[in-house]
Amino acid sequence: MGATGYFTHPDFWKHEMGPGHPECPERLSAIEDRLLITGLDLALTRREAAPAALADIELAHGRMHVAALRGLSDVLREDMAAGGPTHTALDPDTSINAWTWDAALRSAGAAIEATDAVIAGELENAFCAVRPPGHHACRDKAMGFCFFNNVAIAAKHAVERHGLQRVAIVDFDVHHGNGTEDIVAGDERILMASFYQHPFYPEGGSISNAPNLVNVPVPAYTKGMDVRELIELMWMPRLEAFKPELIFISAGFDAHREDDMGQLGLVEQDYAWITRRLKDLADRHAQGRIVSCLEGGYNLSALARSVEAHLRVLADV
Ligand SMILES: [Zn+2]
Repeated sequence: MGATGYFTHPDFWKHEMGPGHPECPERLSAIEDRLLITGLDLALTRREAAPAALADIELAHGRMHVAALRGLSDVLREDMAAGGPTHTALDPDTSINAWTWDAALRSAGAAIEATDAVIAGELENAFCAVRPPGHHACRDKAMGFCFFNNVAIAAKHAVERHGLQRVAIVDFDVHHGNGTEDIVAGDERILMASFYQHPFYPEGGSISNAPNLVNVPVPAYTKGMDVRELIELMWMPRLEAFKPELIFISAGFDAHREDDMGQLGLVEQDYAWITRRLKDLADRHAQGRIVSCLEGGYNLSALARSVEAHLRVLADV
């Protein structure tokens, strides 16, 4: 039985998007507190994330997108030093502060390092407790609280740098991972399986018919048991047939019943069940290798309890 990595970094607390924003540093604090209170912390191998190399970011993003974010960040820092505003808005939901650039690089860096560690066999699987999240970040656009697509970058890294032939991305966030879809649609080395509330943010769901996407839109108020049935029916046969060598998880916990950001009815046991199904799949095909990255989850208590349930399965405790 291998070790479970837990990748995070103090910089993830410094990025914030203004008072009252739901994608806040307190999300990570709630998770950390839960791990300490439950003693689960002791079962995890803690690692500090290094920043991603720009060459790796550009496996998933256009050079102009990366340069634009860096430029905005530099201008903001100069303006701040001159007594100007502390944030620059990119869209009504998404803004940067002076630390966003560093945090976004490290967030992708965590996913990459976790990928390297599980491929090297140093860890069996890993959870990246990162901010900013990534799955709405498109190849050429930041949106929906996301700047760089951590999971898509790590998946491209796994196939381009390590030569893996088949990797899966599983996304159980309540929102459709439109950014991941934008980046991986049509790449036959990557199979993306997701369910998401529909119709809902962003743009009403999937816009691609690429054969490497398994999209399962579900209506508001769908309960966990129904989602499990859909996963069994729609995801698992495709994932089994694909035989992924590594499984990435876009682990958003905003489909939780107590999370007001969405209207789905999952609870901790559902996240444990999904994780178990993916772990069994990874054991059969991927030498147990799973890299899971935090996406959404905005009710702090439900988020912390759900991450605990997810990690208990990953770490076998
Ligand atoms: Zn979400």
